[in-house]
Amino acid sequence: MERDALARFVEARGFPPFHGRQIYRWLYAKRTFDPQRWTDLPASLRAAVAAEARAEPGRLEPAAEAADGTRKYRVHLPEGGRAEAVYMEHRGRVTLCVSSQVGCALGCDFCLTARMGLVRHMTSGEILGQVAALMDLHGLDARRFNVVFMGMGEPLHNYDAVMAAVRILVDPEGFGLSRRRLTLSTAGLAPAVERLAQEPVRPRLAVSLNAASDALRARLMPIGRKYPLERLLQACRVFAERTGERFTFEYVLLAGVNDTEDELARLGRILRRLPAKLNLIPFNPVPGRLPYEAPPRARVLAIRDRLLEQGVPVSIRWSRGLDARAACGQLAVLPEGAAAFRATP
Ligand code: SAH
Repeated sequence: MERDALARFVEARGFPPFHGRQIYRWLYAKRTFDPQRWTDLPASLRAAVAAEARAEPGRLEPAAEAADGTRKYRVHLPEGGRAEAVYMEHRGRVTLCVSSQVGCALGCDFCLTARMGLVRHMTSGEILGQVAALMDLHGLDARRFNVVFMGMGEPLHNYDAVMAAVRILVDPEGFGLSRRRLTLSTAGLAPAVERLAQEPVRPRLAVSLNAASDALRARLMPIGRKYPLERLLQACRVFAERTGERFTFEYVLLAGVNDTEDELARLGRILRRLPAKLNLIPFNPVPGRLPYEAPPRARVLAIRDRLLEQGVPVSIRWSRGLDARAACGQLAVLPEGAAAFRATP
């Protein structure tokens, strides 16, 4: 609940609305979820909350730890079911990757989450709860860290819940994070990208491009049929113009599929027209489940160098957590015993 909803909640139970703001601080600034510890509130209100509401972040169960220290957690969600969240630390920089849906509706062919289908949207509380639980477990109260909405699900398909979570994360009376430390990645829901551009409080934007021609993109990402490239690029242009902000295009490299000379030439042309950075993501395999391969390392470097020469700002995301199935595209809760969950690839 945001401030207004909390104020209405306490008012409806006969208490003055300012108690709502106190509860807000206990929940989001102090992340104290047991109403009995809300010492500045009347005992009768605490009892009403305990009886009629639930305040819990969700329970994290360690699922796997990668050689690079990346940790993947199974999140037992307060509203039922499970999702995954990932803790990464690299050169002293901590990044939390959180899920926004259980499963995903978009069906991208290279992503394991897609194989679950959409089970349900997560609530804003469940989205925030992942951050709260990871902060608690990793002692992040006094540390800076980044949050990326790049776990399971399409965040812009669960727009309202994700944006409520974003507002509470950046609110100084809430989690108090800097807005610049939040990044939302979308598979390309063009109208929602335009809506995001209008938000007074918004995360940074990353757009999963993954192909530079409509035919290929529609084959890899069914959402490309609904919003062809011109439509998506138009939305990106609107975002850049309205916000004055640079954004990122992500491009998963699939050997022999989207790394062909033609496709890369088209990619270069798209990037020259827009104020975007490019993030190349060598494909993370899930053997037996996803029918693609990453290009060899030397090829990845050559692709980057060639785009750099064309003046495109480009970096490579060597995904972390690969051997823990915690990397981009590898998150999923599939039936127990499924091949995707065997400990070793
Ligand atoms: N649904 C959103 C959020 C997920 S972010 C989106 O599509 O952007 C996950 C990122 O990992 C996306 O850029 C996606 O294109 C990429 N990805 C998906 N499967 C992958 C895989 N197997 N290897 C590498 N990257 C992958």
